[in-house]
Amino acid sequence: MRSGWVDSDARAAIDRYARDGVGPDLALRVYTTRLLGRDPRLVLHGGGNTSVKTILPDLLGEKVEALCVKGSGCDMAAIEPAGLPALRLDRLRKLRARAALADGEMVRVERANLLDPGAPNPSVEILLHAFLPHKFVDHTHANAILSLTDQPDGEAICAELYDGRAGVVPYVMPGFALGKLAADIHDAKPDVEGLILDKHGIVTFGDSAREAYERMIALVTRAEERLARNRKAVFVTAQLPQAIAPLAAVAPIIRGACSLKDAAVEGQWRRLILDFRTGPAILSFVNGAEVRRYSQAGPVTPDHTIRTKHRPLVVATPEHGRTDDFRRAARAAVEAFIADYQAYFERQNGRVGRCRTALDPLPRVVLVPGLGLFGLGRSKKDAGIAADLAQCAVETITDAEAIGRFESITEAAMFDMEYWPLEQAKLGTAKEPPLAGQVAVVTGGGGTIGAATARAFASAGAEVALLDVDERAAADKARTIGGAALALECDVTDAASVARAFEAVAAAFGGVDIVVSNAGAAWQGRIGEVDEEILRKSFELNFYGHQRVAQAAVKIMLAQGTGGCLLFNVSKQAVNPGPNFGPYGLPKAATLFLVRQYALDYGSDGIRANAVNADRIRSGLLTDAFIAERSKARGVSEQDYLRGNLLGREVTAEDVAQAFLHQALALKTTGDVTTVDGGNIAAALR
Ligand SMILES: [Zn+2]
Repeated sequence: MRSGWVDSDARAAIDRYARDGVGPDLALRVYTTRLLGRDPRLVLHGGGNTSVKTILPDLLGEKVEALCVKGSGCDMAAIEPAGLPALRLDRLRKLRARAALADGEMVRVERANLLDPGAPNPSVEILLHAFLPHKFVDHTHANAILSLTDQPDGEAICAELYDGRAGVVPYVMPGFALGKLAADIHDAKPDVEGLILDKHGIVTFGDSAREAYERMIALVTRAEERLARNRKAVFVTAQLPQAIAPLAAVAPIIRGACSLKDAAVEGQWRRLILDFRTGPAILSFVNGAEVRRYSQAGPVTPDHTIRTKHRPLVVATPEHGRTDDFRRAARAAVEAFIADYQAYFERQNGRVGRCRTALDPLPRVVLVPGLGLFGLGRSKKDAGIAADLAQCAVETITDAEAIGRFESITEAAMFDMEYWPLEQAKLGTAKEPPLAGQVAVVTGGGGTIGAATARAFASAGAEVALLDVDERAAADKARTIGGAALALECDVTDAASVARAFEAVAAAFGGVDIVVSNAGAAWQGRIGEVDEEILRKSFELNFYGHQRVAQAAVKIMLAQGTGGCLLFNVSKQAVNPGPNFGPYGLPKAATLFLVRQYALDYGSDGIRANAVNADRIRSGLLTDAFIAERSKARGVSEQDYLRGNLLGREVTAEDVAQAFLHQALALKTTGDVTTVDGGNIAAALR
């Protein structure tokens, strides 16, 4: 591992922040914090923290000795000075004299001593920084250090390797206990360059930002060199079936198995989004004959526990062509995981006087022999974080096993971290949006109504995939939605294209819960004279297109076993035909019955089917030129043409999107047709 320090960059950071009135100490603290944060071998997702002790004015302008420490859960790679709240150092140091300090009191003391009362909460490891005397203190959960410490004799290995250069701190709970113990061990040998925290990470320090940072690089490099020596071969591969089922078939089964029925609302499920990873290192790990030993030993560092739970779920190998067997095995494995997690919670909660409330018992990492691993979360972002941490665990445990045998913290220590209120606070307490954990696919996503619908579903918390025959249009719209919105090329008149798109969605998110079958186009012609070819073309798109999309969705929904929602953009034409609009209205009328057929055939599977009948929406189908033509033909203004309904109001794509969203949320509604047309009594269904 090389130092990333560049003199000119450090000077540039000082100059850059000086313009905002930030002094060189804090500027360099930001500079090296970012250097640490950008290397995933050192820091991942809000893990790790840094600090600097400096002189700052308080709100009254009086200079005080301050500790600027990383804010809790803050991303080191993108940190700014505001991400390092400043606290009165002398007050924090006084806490060292205490024998014990409750969490609530620690937080109160911290908040009372912030120089700016509006600053974010400081890192949960603040006292480690406060009790050490050095100006700059850096703390990471470097993989190489963890591979050495996560051993039955980890402390002895590190004591020998660092030979007085670094102190070794036995595992204790982060927070007050660790801050005190680390400072005591430092004070006994004040000339050390850093401290190895057993089964947790490493701290380095120095008089300058560069010294603390480069000591981190040096000590971690020494660990890497140790891991490269005398390695033994790891992970003898288990006997696996010849052919493994594809990702797109496996993911919905796992996603369905890892869902929980809502006890309060019938038809509601608590679902998770999946993020898949694979590669030679992951396959070697998950295919190992002993995967159920080393993968179940616990987290590589306690900080991961809130994201990954205390252990991953290992499922059976999904053999190609035997997905029913895999589904049964996966469900049984998840049930066993849940029972095990609940027993762990009961055991440990009893130990701490029943003061904790159980979190959901679903796994956050699933290992699939023959295939790879999944991270799971309530959003694609959270699933990605779990997957990143799982990949980090694969690398760390592989190295640990190459020099010995991986060992983690005790079950009690895992529980104390997972249920530590200060750790839980990192996940936030914001109320979840109504479609959190769900995946919505919108066809015709590159068009006006499709894009508005995808945006409405994304705002309601769903992960969205925009499918369109024009991939670029879908990609443009996906970009405006942001987040993890996916754009895919899909021609709904081509069964293979539809299958490919749905496989891609299942691979990206783990499955599908809601489909808005919206792609369509209008053809005109007087029905007695129209070319049969035109009629067939319109049926291909405006009827069979819906059928192909619904069929592909149902296949995934049945594999998940958690119900689902099929939504169709029909048209008022299905009920109230317009003159010369037969080629458009006829397949739409068939699609209206298609909705009812799906509602009938799949109600018992919890799959709902509903439709929106919209009329006169300004869109790619009803273009400005077309509006001009139709209004002229009727001898009315364009405004009057668009408002030609009972309410006299123009109906927009957003109105249609909200109708689809309502149908997606109405868990007791199926076979429904909602009109969004401003009122058209001839198109009223009853
Ligand atoms: Zn830590």
